[in-house]
Amino acid sequence: MTKNKETGWNFDNSYARLPQSFFASTNPTPVRAPKLIILNDQLATSLGLNVEELKSEEGAALFAGNEIPEGAFPLAQAYAGHQFGHFTMLGDGRAVLLGEQVSPQGERVDIQLKGSGRTPYSRGGDGRAALGPMLREYIISEAMHALGIPTTRSLAVVTTGEPVYRETELPGAILTRVAASHLRVGTFQYAANWSTVDDLRILADYALKRHFPDVEANENRYLSLLQEVIKRQAELIAKWQLVGFIHGVMNTDNMTISGETIDYGPCAFMDVYDPATVFSSIDIQGRYAYRNQPLIGGWNLARFAEALLPLLHEDQEQAIKLAEDKLSDFTKLYHHNWLAGMRAKLGIFNEETEDEALIENLLQMMQEHQADYTNTFRALTLDQREDTNLFRTPEFTQWHKQWQERLGRQQESKAAANELMRRSNPAIIPRNHRVEEALKAAVEQGDYSVMERLVAVLSNPYAHSADEADYCTLPASSAEPYRTFCGT
Ligand code: AMP
Ligand code: MG
Repeated sequence: MTKNKETGWNFDNSYARLPQSFFASTNPTPVRAPKLIILNDQLATSLGLNVEELKSEEGAALFAGNEIPEGAFPLAQAYAGHQFGHFTMLGDGRAVLLGEQVSPQGERVDIQLKGSGRTPYSRGGDGRAALGPMLREYIISEAMHALGIPTTRSLAVVTTGEPVYRETELPGAILTRVAASHLRVGTFQYAANWSTVDDLRILADYALKRHFPDVEANENRYLSLLQEVIKRQAELIAKWQLVGFIHGVMNTDNMTISGETIDYGPCAFMDVYDPATVFSSIDIQGRYAYRNQPLIGGWNLARFAEALLPLLHEDQEQAIKLAEDKLSDFTKLYHHNWLAGMRAKLGIFNEETEDEALIENLLQMMQEHQADYTNTFRALTLDQREDTNLFRTPEFTQWHKQWQERLGRQQESKAAANELMRRSNPAIIPRNHRVEEALKAAVEQGDYSVMERLVAVLSNPYAHSADEADYCTLPASSAEPYRTFCGT
């Protein structure tokens, strides 16, 4: 067995010290032939792990769950959740938490193997994952991180040497996910429905200590917990909207308490600006469409508040009042963050009342003329009025003049405004056709070079360098809209 002093693992298991009802002690199911496909060198190093050691056969065995590092306490977490509005019991059906790595800087993160075999929460599932979706999560979560959006991270992907059966036979894989924690709105819903109020309080205290130590001493600390989660989600969802990210499955079990994006099943980035965009094949009603994300965020937070009610006040009516008061802040906070972000995308530093109309006018024209979301802001940043439908219109010329006048009314120079735009408008996003191309080469040909190049380019989305142009081009238009899938 590899010793921790060689690999750098340094586990603590604070979650495992919660009441027994919050988890089931479960080992990963060993796999036939683990092989390391990709390792996140930078992330590994920042966590105090030894990259060379982890690239050896021992590393593959660790990331496959065939070997358990010293100090780990493998478990599957219990949680519930509203899935497309319907409440059910869930839990880690195909994931195992090894424990919390405490980095040399004292940072604590969950280390979870996803696709590691059946658990007591698997229901009918096989507990496994296929290579394509695990690489997809790796690519997109790391792209999100580089975009400056809070997210779970991806440390490694291994193939298992075993097939998984979906519609066809696919190569099996396991992703090592790194997260500030895996506490979800659904974890609290589980506690509220199936635990005691004492256990719910223990969970809330745990979340406070782990994520919001600054408010732990507040008079009503559970109300502060609600408020802080509302704040983080209002920041997170605004960031999604600003880059055109569509999560695709905003069930309450897929909303974290830490404010990190989690669950990269059916997510995708929008190309053409259309607020009704939805990619997920099962989201027939468009519940999780781009424009609904802030609304659904608020809905999920209301479910979180409901779960916390017994802790907010001993009198239920009072508790509801307190919760409603905090929940009503979400829309304002979200809107404030979104507007601030949009101003930055247009190089605007100060505030004028008419800014929102200026922004809305642009978005409306983008929708009408089917402009690409990312490339429109990139073109404005680079002052390259490419020959697109939008830029050819007299309305746009008029808008551009108004925008330039607006920039002229602030103290900061046009150069400073442009710097702000460069920092706020990514050139590179994980475009659907590029992601698909990388996955196809990996899964069908065992060629990982396309994915490696893509991951490298995505790690620097605000560079605005000359060699990135290739990754900004749009797919040849297809008769079929892009579709993504859940439960893969
Ligand atoms: P998700 O759609 O990834 O948020 O997953 C929803 C629920 O289904 C979670 O409880 C997962 O653990 C579970 N799940 C997804 N895929 C599988 C699988 N292949 N085997 C067992 N459980 C699964
Ligand atoms: Mg999930």
